[in-house]
Amino acid sequence: MAHKGVLIVISGFSGAGKGTLVKKLLETYDNYALSISMTTRKPREGEEEGKAYFFTDKEHFEEKISQNGFIEYAQYCDNYYGTPRAYVEEQLAVGKDVILEIEIQGALKIKEQFPESVLLFVTPPSAEELERRLIGRGTEEPDVIRKRLSRASEESEGIEAYDYIVVNDDLDICVEELHRLVDAARRAPVRREAFIKEIREELKSFAKGAE
Ligand code: 5GP
Repeated sequence: MAHKGVLIVISGFSGAGKGTLVKKLLETYDNYALSISMTTRKPREGEEEGKAYFFTDKEHFEEKISQNGFIEYAQYCDNYYGTPRAYVEEQLAVGKDVILEIEIQGALKIKEQFPESVLLFVTPPSAEELERRLIGRGTEEPDVIRKRLSRASEESEGIEAYDYIVVNDDLDICVEELHRLVDAARRAPVRREAFIKEIREELKSFAKGAE
């Protein structure tokens, strides 16, 4: 199905600063809509229901899976995370560029289902900086931080599956770069099929006229 908006996947190691980046992107430009995921993870302090996530339990999550209610879902550090289908489809249909902030297993499933989606991988400048940011966030216990670093190491094996890597060093530059990449994606032939068809037809009739 041809969507009017661009489906954008933003992944990156936990602690790469994706959340801040996406927030700034939404504040700066009005063409984006952010999909709110559902998760079985417990809320962190300050996380609001329906803003950070839709928080739920395993039973309800599994029920929604069986109803085909997610466009993708994955298990990450012992919890389920999934992208509710309805919102994404509605927003793409009205021409919004929809952002999914999801991890790599989900990103790969999205690329399979929506080959014209744009996969962006956000990384801090170094592993050392990632650890520093995770500790600095102060929301996780040391063993959770270790788990997330080890997960980051696994995830780094999959970076080649993404269309672009964005290094998050300076927030404003990074936001600008992401926006430009999405804008460039709009010009890919796969997104301009109707235009290509039209210009081909016109050229054909011009060529006939010149015979
Ligand atoms: P956190 O617990 O730090 O909020 O999220 C953990 C990881 O799950 C992050 O990499 C985040 O991008 C990812 N994630 C959040 N929502 C979804 C989702 O709906 N689907 C998938 N596959 N991953 C998600």
